[in-house]
This record gives sequence, structure tokens and C-alpha cells, in this order.
Amino acid sequence: MTADVALWKSEDGLTEDERIIVKRSLGFFSTADSLVANNLVLAIYRLITNPECRQYILRQSLEEAIHTHAYQYCIESLAMDEGEIFNMYREIPCVAKKASWALKYTKELSDPNFKTGDLESDKQLLRNLIAFYCVLEGVFFYCGFTQILSMGRRNKMTGTAEQFQYILRDESMHVNFGIDVINQIKIENPQLWDDQMKEEAAQMILEGTQLEIDYARDTMPRGVLGMNAPMMEEYLQFIANRRLTQIGLTEEFPGAT
Ligand code: FE
Repeated sequence: MTADVALWKSEDGLTEDERIIVKRSLGFFSTADSLVANNLVLAIYRLITNPECRQYILRQSLEEAIHTHAYQYCIESLAMDEGEIFNMYREIPCVAKKASWALKYTKELSDPNFKTGDLESDKQLLRNLIAFYCVLEGVFFYCGFTQILSMGRRNKMTGTAEQFQYILRDESMHVNFGIDVINQIKIENPQLWDDQMKEEAAQMILEGTQLEIDYARDTMPRGVLGMNAPMMEEYLQFIANRRLTQIGLTEEFPGAT
């Protein structure tokens, strides 16, 4: 982090727009990875009883804890205002909206009396998996990751960017795992995947994509790092298409690249 610390503290090493990106990314991700960890431990683990899946969920939980620690390490090393960073999930609207969008899907499942076994509760589990794997880890991470990796490619904040690279490697596995689980549940319980559920799943991915587009606009009011909000919007539509097709739905943004 030595080079990052020197650059962060220097007067003119980073533009104001670049500083916003670093702060928003650390603010959002430190919250998001702990939301994911809570969802795994407090909601999903109890309900997914397949032993191989449970082993993977344990591994994923460890990784989320390491990610949260990595963000916190960056925040501390850069001597950021921790109150500002850790409160973004309730003070900065574009961050708060993403966090609360996901949180509502943990709520019902984390009730100790919640159990699966009928159509509605099984669907609720499926919604949770779609919210967390397809949207939170599958869409909400993409604008911030792209911004920080692009910064690293320009030789800025390279220590932070390196940690994000390792985290992205784990996150790609989390998404793949989640999509496999969702698709397997669909195979074993075809009654859950009715027209209403398909419509709802597509709607959730579209809502998430829109929140991420709003985040892109907010964090990139001008062009920065060779990118801008309209470019990010198309990229996010491309990601949304991929998430939709991965769970067997049709693309909503044909031609997005
Ligand atoms: Fe993750």
C-alpha cells in the first residue's frame, strides 16, 4: 500500500473524480461483502442442506470475511475518515439504495421460524439466491470493480487495485456457484419456475441493473479513467443480458456489448 498511501496523500496525484471513485468503492464494497456474508450465515446455510453446497458456502463465507478485511485494510492504510466510509450505506443515496435493495431479501429468510417446503417459501429462497448471486454479486460489483481496475491499469492506486483483482477472482466463482445452485433448484423443482417467477426474476435483474446504472452516473458525473456513465450503462446492460441468459431467461438488451 506504500505507493497508494503516497498517491492518496499527495495534493495533485489524483483528480477529485478519481478520489470519489476510490471512496465510494471502499464504502460500498465493505458494506456489500458483509451483507453477503450475513445472508450466507444467517439465511441460506440453514436452508441449503446439500453437503457439497454447504462446504462451498463455508468457503465463500471465509472469502467474504477476507474481502471485508481487505477493504478495511485499504481504508485504514489510506487513513480515510472511517465514519464517512462506513456510513455510506446509509448516507449516500446511490450506495444506500443498493444495500437496502439486497437487505430486504435476507429479512424473511433469516427469521428462525422460516422454513422451505411449500411453493411460496421455496420461491422465496429462490428469490434470495437470485438477489444475492445474480444481482448483488453479479451486477452490483461491476461498476466499482471496473473503475478500480481501470485505475490500476493507469498505474494509480495499484495496491488497492491488486486486492480488488483477487477479490474479483473470488466473486466470479461465487456468481458461478450461485447460478449452478439456482439452475439445479429449477431442475429439481420445475413447479417453482413458472411464468410469474420468471417474470419476477427478470424484473429483479432489471431493477438491480438500473440501480447500478444510477451508481455509475453518480460516481462518474464526468468522464474519468477513459470511461463515462453512458459507456458503463451499456456494459451493465451486457452484464444483465448475461445474468438473464445464465438462468434461462431472454436478453433484455439485445446488441449491448
Ligand atoms: Fe462474494
